[in-house]
Amino acid sequence: MVKENLAQVMENIENACKRSNRDVNEVTLIAVSKTKPVEMISEAIDAGVVNFGENKVQELTDKMEYFKDNQNLKWHMIGHLQSNKVKYIIDKVSLIHSVDSYSLAQKISEQAVKKNVNANILIEVNVAMEESKFGLSCEDVKELVIKIGALPNITVRGLMTVAPYVENPEENREIFRKLKKLCVDIKSKNIDNITMDILSMGMTNDYEIAIEEGSTMVRVGTGIFGNRNYNI
Ligand SMILES: *Cc1c(COP(=O)(O)O)cnc(C)c1O
Repeated sequence: MVKENLAQVMENIENACKRSNRDVNEVTLIAVSKTKPVEMISEAIDAGVVNFGENKVQELTDKMEYFKDNQNLKWHMIGHLQSNKVKYIIDKVSLIHSVDSYSLAQKISEQAVKKNVNANILIEVNVAMEESKFGLSCEDVKELVIKIGALPNITVRGLMTVAPYVENPEENREIFRKLKKLCVDIKSKNIDNITMDILSMGMTNDYEIAIEEGSTMVRVGTGIFGNRNYNI
């Protein structure tokens, strides 16, 4: 099932790229494996997936440990991150998508210095200003990015958003457009340690629209692994 789902998602990504005159190599698919067993991750690996996203530190570190012999894999922290857990993942993940405060960035920088690594991060933006979601408002992003870029051993690679759940994904187009604009705007300032080359937006429900609006990383869970059951 994972293999067939993946083929469909890849085809949809290619079509979205064609519609928007983009090179398919500009878009990285992150398979969001949260709550799913390692057997399903193995199926995805066999089908060619190298990027995996998890939203809980414990689950992420358990799965990274299980697959530690596979050097090709890249792990992404996409969920809310508590400062006291940064030390468990800092030298293991390839990208932290969910930095939503200066204090968290400080902690990431501090731990990166300690472990002598460079941390790649994205700033999470709550474009729609939903109360239930984490992330900064668009207005606060620029100032925070500049402050974070000045911290040691940290590179701000771009922005990330979790768009609202909507019946018709077209409703999220404006949100993606707004995030893209914000990203281009900050990039144009050419600030040290702020590369702004990654735009992480689009999930199962709306990744095609996100790609049409410039996404470079789509985070797809349900579309690859099926529905999640949180009650087991
Ligand atoms: C769960 C999750 C996803 C994947 O959601 P699907 O709708 O299953 O594709 C993407 N991003 C984040 C931050 C998530 O927590």
